[in-house]
Amino acid sequence: MLKDRLKTQIRANGPLTLADFMGQALMDPREGYYARRPVFGAKGDFITAPEISQMFGELIGIWIASAWMSAGRPDPFQIVELGPGRGTLMADLLRATQSVAGLHEAADLIFVEQSAALQSLQAEAVANASLPVRWCTSVADVPDRPTALIANEFFDALPIRQAIFDGQKWAERMVGLNEAGELAFGLLPVADLAPWLAGLPPPKAGDILEFSPQVMSAAQGVSRLIGDHGFAALIIDYGHDKRGYGETLQAVRNHASTDVLRDPGLADVTAHVDFALLRAIGQNAGLKALPPVGQGPFLLALGLLERAGRLGAGKSKEAQNALHAEVERLAGPDQMGALFKVLALTTKGLVVPGFDGA
Ligand code: SAH
Repeated sequence: MLKDRLKTQIRANGPLTLADFMGQALMDPREGYYARRPVFGAKGDFITAPEISQMFGELIGIWIASAWMSAGRPDPFQIVELGPGRGTLMADLLRATQSVAGLHEAADLIFVEQSAALQSLQAEAVANASLPVRWCTSVADVPDRPTALIANEFFDALPIRQAIFDGQKWAERMVGLNEAGELAFGLLPVADLAPWLAGLPPPKAGDILEFSPQVMSAAQGVSRLIGDHGFAALIIDYGHDKRGYGETLQAVRNHASTDVLRDPGLADVTAHVDFALLRAIGQNAGLKALPPVGQGPFLLALGLLERAGRLGAGKSKEAQNALHAEVERLAGPDQMGALFKVLALTTKGLVVPGFDGA
């Protein structure tokens, strides 16, 4: 079992950083959470927006089509998706953009995915598409070309590290073994945190800092790609737009929260995304990055209600109620509408829909 392999590693080599633990729990090729063909649906541990409703991917398709037109219809270009899960969003996006003259003809499709099990589900999802499809395992390997990029619930799955301030100094939270030989948190001295503390207020005893070299390098990769070759990236996730201290790491199994160390490989482990950091990285690369907007206002501005109305026209009362429930889940402020945020990083001068209120 993965848990036993982690214990053996710790016995042999000492404690793991939280990022090492999280990376293996999610991405171990045999027993990692994303190697086990998780169902991101009602029957899985959690449900994502594209699995809630086809309207989500369709509206993102409309966004990408508008960005492509505003960028002057680059040809060739690539549609890149980070962490595509079951490929549902892309299937809906491609269907919604089929009638945009020239778009599919100009585009290649690039999926950034490490899980072999999910790669094969993604291949099935877009099997009917006329676009050439290929896979990369990291953002750094994506070809150099004008790009429309989408990442939905990708950054929250990237491994994070944590440090704790005791009033005098910072220590890193590590995953080691307790006296009973079970996985347990401990503390070790931490290397220089100065770059991660820039712009934050002085810490108080008990403050926790979350930091993620993986998030940093993925965000830099995205920003460099768009900065060097143009045009737009859309990043959707749950998280915060104010830098600060605090712990957001969580594990979810069967729609209920569970202990992070209890079931490595069997529970989804995520952390809130630091949108302020992503935005700053984009701006450093010369991109336009407006403050993120809530998923609710974003989808409404793109025509969620109109789309639901068209899909429901002439349908049964049940079908219309189901669509109404989908709209609520995606956009309701007490559901995904406010917690989930949408950040666009674009070439300067590009005009994209959905950010009017920003
Ligand atoms: N976007 C999908 C799935 C979100 S789950 C949806 O909204 O339904 C996170 C996705 O990111 C999975 O496809 C997972 O395999 C992938 N992923 C996580 N960490 C990754 C990494 N380091 N490199 C590449 N893909 C990763």
